[in-house]
Amino acid sequence: MIIDSHVHIFPDKIAEKAVAGIGKFYDLPMRHDGKLDTVFAEGRKAGIDKFVILSVATAPEQVASINNFLAENVRKHGDKLIGFCAMHPDFQGIDAELERAREMGLVGIKLHPDFQRFDIDDEKAFEIYRAAEGKMPILFHTGDYRTGWSKPEKMAKVMDLFPNLDVIASHFGGWSEWERTPEAYKGRNVYVDTSSSLYKLTPEEVRNMVDAFGADHVLFGTDFPMWNMSDELELFAKLPLTAEERELILHENMENLLRKYGKNI
Ligand SMILES: [Zn+2]
Repeated sequence: MIIDSHVHIFPDKIAEKAVAGIGKFYDLPMRHDGKLDTVFAEGRKAGIDKFVILSVATAPEQVASINNFLAENVRKHGDKLIGFCAMHPDFQGIDAELERAREMGLVGIKLHPDFQRFDIDDEKAFEIYRAAEGKMPILFHTGDYRTGWSKPEKMAKVMDLFPNLDVIASHFGGWSEWERTPEAYKGRNVYVDTSSSLYKLTPEEVRNMVDAFGADHVLFGTDFPMWNMSDELELFAKLPLTAEERELILHENMENLLRKYGKNI
């Protein structure tokens, strides 16, 4: 069983344009369009069984329609898809929308402070954190050496303020800021994912990250459509990890995390 815990999807109509925008933002080539059919095709090639799908709302007006879109796909492909809903700090009625998302079968939240242009530790986002605490984990984009929105230290501060919030700090806790991430989160119960990191970190560096965060707190993710699922799994296979650690990272950690919230996958 392999779960890709970080998969961006877009409605077919806007997929190509949205994906081009992300590639430009990170100055990285995007390997794929962001269509669900492509997720399934690439997943089949790579041998990935399940996908955590998400989509970022860059404006509050997009939140409800994105959540409808994600929920509709989870309904259609419940055996393969796990949905993390969109939210935005400027959204009016955060509690009610998160409740609606849960009723529609979405089990987590995805936030991207850099795309959504809010400081991860800005009080205006606290309503989301408060509403999520004990109810849904939040998968955050974290880290960008060029900006200040999602600094690992700010994420750690949020964790101290919301101790019952399950935080997945993507990209090993801070994309492009890896030299600081283990220290920034020290002593906190943070989950991290492997996405958009394996292209840059050496196998030894990843090994050290797994030791720092704990093998039971690392999730395999690809950040599709940025990367090829097969390439990411190949990079993962080359890491110096034990068979038990691989099982944890490839699926058990996500299963255990969601079980806490009553979701068996
Ligand atoms: Zn992401």
